Amino acid sequence: MTSPRLTARQQLIHLLTQQSYTAHELSGQAHLSERQVEDHLTHIIRSLARSMLQQFVREESRCIDCGYEFRNRTRLKRPSRCPHCRSEAISYPRFSITDKPLHKKNKHSTCQKV
Ligand SMILES: [Zn+2]
Repeated sequence: MTSPRLTARQQLIHLLTQQSYTAHELSGQAHLSERQVEDHLTHIIRSLARSMLQQFVREESRCIDCGYEFRNRTRLKRPSRCPHCRSEAISYPRFSITDKPLHKKNKHSTCQKV
């Protein structure tokens, strides 16, 4: 094996930049327990909060039956029950990492005169 081994956290970051995953999917992809994934994600979120280039994107859990969206949840795990309709059909939160939109200054913009 000559290829450099990524740490678990680097592997998770790599996966998340490709597409969005649930914690469960990440645990399968990276061969970690969901608990370990959750710990790593907490650190990744914290370090990306300072990043100028990338941002952590979180798609919230949603009730499949009534569409209720679970906002402002601090836990990464899925809520067990909908507070509106008591349904237990709750989608899992999904996570991904995207490039931050660059705030370029238009100092080079020129008015083309004909
Ligand atoms: Zn509901």
